[in-house]
Amino acid sequence: MKRLVILGAGESGVGAALLGRQKGWDVFVSDRSSIEKEHQIELEHSGVQFESGQHNMDQILRADLIIKSPGIPGHVPVVVKARNAGITIVSEIEFASRYTEATLVAVTGSNGKTTTASWIYDILKTAGLDVALAGNIGFGFSRLLSQGNPKYIVLEVSSFQLEDIKSFRPHIAVITNITPDHLDRYNYDFSQYVAAKMKISINQTQNDILIFDADDLATTETLKATPLKVSQFPFSTSRILKQGTYNQDNQIFFHSKKKPLMPISELKLEGLHNVKNAMAAATVANLLRVRKQFIRESLQNFHGVEHRMEQVLKINKVQYINDSKATNVNATYYALQSMRSPTVWIVGGLDKGNDYTELFPIVFEKVKAIVCLGVDNKKIIDSFGPMVKVISETQSMTEAVRLAYKFAEPGDSVLLSPACASFDLFEDYEDRGRQFKNAVRQL
Ligand code: ADP
Repeated sequence: MKRLVILGAGESGVGAALLGRQKGWDVFVSDRSSIEKEHQIELEHSGVQFESGQHNMDQILRADLIIKSPGIPGHVPVVVKARNAGITIVSEIEFASRYTEATLVAVTGSNGKTTTASWIYDILKTAGLDVALAGNIGFGFSRLLSQGNPKYIVLEVSSFQLEDIKSFRPHIAVITNITPDHLDRYNYDFSQYVAAKMKISINQTQNDILIFDADDLATTETLKATPLKVSQFPFSTSRILKQGTYNQDNQIFFHSKKKPLMPISELKLEGLHNVKNAMAAATVANLLRVRKQFIRESLQNFHGVEHRMEQVLKINKVQYINDSKATNVNATYYALQSMRSPTVWIVGGLDKGNDYTELFPIVFEKVKAIVCLGVDNKKIIDSFGPMVKVISETQSMTEAVRLAYKFAEPGDSVLLSPACASFDLFEDYEDRGRQFKNAVRQL
């Protein structure tokens, strides 16, 4: 029996263990931190051996194949030792993809992955296809395959998961956009991060398809410099394309059709970024020959994903919006850009090397007051203080919401769009978003 060692026992690691067992591997899971109780129970139930809180190198170096979880950087000692011992190391999506014949649609990018992947799934589901959604989204690809094998699989994949692929080849790949994020994992070198994202297309052939934003400079410049065999179907909100999907007179067009798909104003989700996400999703569906009627139906009805520009409540004519998933500057840029009323902005958290200058004009235009919510708010106060009349800071969500309530007047909006990671004060962005919604409901 071949031995599979899995480093990291999060959602993807545990899913891989379950799939590995089913496929006849002798599986061992090793996590240097403590493994969540629920995951331990799952592993025990399926007879998988594991260790929690340590890496036993004797056990690990006996592996024929190692799966490295996306959270573990490539330079940590356990990975280096395994590599030096000549053991093949792959990511979980690589492993899982070897066990399915499904048509894979993989979505990566700096922002918009979850929204776009969920939207693609929604269209294909609306069209009645046998489709599932998995990956970075919270339900692992391996776990999905351990439970069934749908005909179409829409996968959200992060750049970390793409780092260790070998033969992973989606039939359709989508790159939503590429803007600086997670640079701490890429030696603060943007080109390394771009290269990791581009790996989504590395094994694609001319029968496969790459969809990307023709208006995104980092993507287009890189594609120009990278020889790829794949068929390219870009989308653009700003110009007409010979091949791809575009906006003409505020209508969405596929290049191959004389008649528009639908007016942009009919999209359920607001904001320029969602026009882009809708175009990406519609392009996938069109290439999979989904009827226009189903594409339109989904684009008109899909109401988005929790924590992404989620409308929470209107209180005293003030709209409260939860965009907790905006963990980088670019996501917040689009959030602010889509605001139609004076905005009280709740911002801050763990800074990942943010450069706020990109936000200056839009903050100046849209934001009337700022509430900083982070352990260290100095950079935000220094950057934006001169631009707004009111700025204050706190370390508690309840207090942040109360302050925002105080600053907002009828007709305004309160937007939580932190531009930062959440780990200084919260468990994760979901915890932050839920605390925001609870605090709003208690006003
Ligand atoms: P991801 O899965 O890549 O983190 P999400 O769909 O969860 O992306 O959205 C994350 C954040 O980015 C949200 O704040 C959302 O409003 C914003 N966003 C969504 N789509 C885009 C886009 N195409 N460009 C820029 N920002 C976006």
